[in-house]
Amino acid sequence: MDFVKAVKEELPELEDKRINYEGNKIVIYTCDKDFFLNQEEKIKEIVDKIKKRIEVRIEPDTLPTKDETKKKIKEIIPEEAEIHNISFEPDFSRVTIDVTYPQMAVGDNGEVVKRVKKETFWIPLVRRVAKPKSPHAEAIRKTLFQSSKYRKRFLNSVGKKIYLSEPKETKYARISFLGSGREVGRSCMILETPNSRIMLDCGISAGALGEDRFPIFSQDFNINSIDAIVLSHAHLDHSGFIPYLYKIGYNGPVYCTEPTRELAALLQIDTIQLMQRETGKSLYTSSDIKKMIKNTIPLKYKEVTDISSDVRLIFENAGHLLGSAMSHFNIGNGKTNVIYTGDIKYSVSNLFDPAFTQFMRSEALILEGTYGGSDNITPRLEDSEKEMIGIINETIKRGGKVLVPSFAVGRAQELMVIFEKYGLDVPIYVDGMIYDANSIHSTYPKYLAYNLQRQIIDENKNPFESERFINVASAREREQILGDDKPCIIIATSGMLNGGPIMEYLKNFGTNPKNTLVFVGYQAAGTLGSKIQAGEKEVKLQDGEKVEINLDIRTVDGLSGHSDRKQLLNFIGHLKNKPKKILVNHGEASKAQNLANSVQKIFNVDSYSPMNLEAIRFI
Ligand SMILES: [Zn+2]
Ligand SMILES: [Zn+2]
Repeated sequence: MDFVKAVKEELPELEDKRINYEGNKIVIYTCDKDFFLNQEEKIKEIVDKIKKRIEVRIEPDTLPTKDETKKKIKEIIPEEAEIHNISFEPDFSRVTIDVTYPQMAVGDNGEVVKRVKKETFWIPLVRRVAKPKSPHAEAIRKTLFQSSKYRKRFLNSVGKKIYLSEPKETKYARISFLGSGREVGRSCMILETPNSRIMLDCGISAGALGEDRFPIFSQDFNINSIDAIVLSHAHLDHSGFIPYLYKIGYNGPVYCTEPTRELAALLQIDTIQLMQRETGKSLYTSSDIKKMIKNTIPLKYKEVTDISSDVRLIFENAGHLLGSAMSHFNIGNGKTNVIYTGDIKYSVSNLFDPAFTQFMRSEALILEGTYGGSDNITPRLEDSEKEMIGIINETIKRGGKVLVPSFAVGRAQELMVIFEKYGLDVPIYVDGMIYDANSIHSTYPKYLAYNLQRQIIDENKNPFESERFINVASAREREQILGDDKPCIIIATSGMLNGGPIMEYLKNFGTNPKNTLVFVGYQAAGTLGSKIQAGEKEVKLQDGEKVEINLDIRTVDGLSGHSDRKQLLNFIGHLKNKPKKILVNHGEASKAQNLANSVQKIFNVDSYSPMNLEAIRFI
């Protein structure tokens, strides 16, 4: 249905209007400032009728100048909000105000920001800036601002594609697995109806080499038959292959949350270097990542969005990583509803609230099963924390150093919250991209657990900006730490010891039995991390150098961002509506199959763990 036409017909009296699609939004541009300021009721009436989002903006060339607007904004927004930057996107009649304290710039019930809109006619957006600014986040921001003309055209074409086609009846819906079938890594699925082809995630495998590293695309696969990519979260086993799709000609949208967009780009940039080191060439370049950023349509949790003519998407909190989302697909106008969990944590963590379960409908569920095996029992969070602190104290007492290989995103921040809580009295060094990831966590506190959010926003106590943590910013600073023999804690990337600054620390400190190496995250088969964890005493690094492993090797479970078996079963048990079909992916073959069998028995539903290249029908 043409909603632009429908909105036009509802507003016959409004002159000089331009109405366009912007993704799944309908945007009205007008010169009529009275209408702009007093349109709320009329627009609400139309929204109720057509059930689509509508935004009203002033024609860009009739807006006050940037200088005038800046002056006005500085008059209206209280100084204590600390304005850093005011930037304009005339194509969207939008002004972004970067501040340290957003709640002051927004005001009670949004009154301050409403005044900005009323007095400048620009659409104001208030953004939080992290205290130590991340160059990475700044670069993404720049890319978005510089490409606003492109983005406007792109969003318009996406909207037209969704709404101007004549959809066929949704007679079938099926999902095929291109990766993550009975394995952890390279998550990639295609959800298909007579009208749509939606890709769910497109990742790479950390441990695998050669073609097993990437999702399986058949010979006749046409990348431009894909209408949209839905990205659950930033981890590379879900996002790592997406820039390559842009390289080979994909030009459609990626839907994800804002933090996922920024974190995914951060991890992808890192993976370019990793691939270059490992194989001498990278699959894609930073310009392909930029293409992805420009084509990303960020969504908030709970926002209902048409992503094709017969598929609607709603993201919900997955509790796994900053911005991680479960995807609820409403297919064929409610004919069926499919929930894809991505990676989930269904229990309390220091960083996130447990995954959402109150889906209004959920006929089918695609569930991750990383720790779905019958032997996967994680200890209580409090016990894990105490174990971690115990290991640290023991090591420090004997004059050793504690090395914690960690993903830049997720585990590192969880550890920082714990270390901040327990107030440890030794230097804690943080090395790798953790600094940038911290900054992104500080920018989006609303995606954190409620308590942590309140602590950061209301009390201004931000563990990611705490002085307790010393950021290692250069090779020279790293040299100093390597030459120092005093006890300390080092959190460094990469989490599975397949590169990153942790390798330097391992080389230097790995031979001394006084030191401890603590694993806190999943170690994929084939990675150096998994070998050391399994007890190998002499390991070969990527550069060919052999290192003797004499330090104490420990593993602390329970800090993982994944649910263990009991939590996964609890998650199903707490769903508002019991699915009729449950598919288990993202788990080693035995664990995924074992979990699927148990789910079938316990809940009496059709449950199965599909293999790669299998397709399963929902309708
Ligand atoms: Zn993940
Ligand atoms: Zn994953």
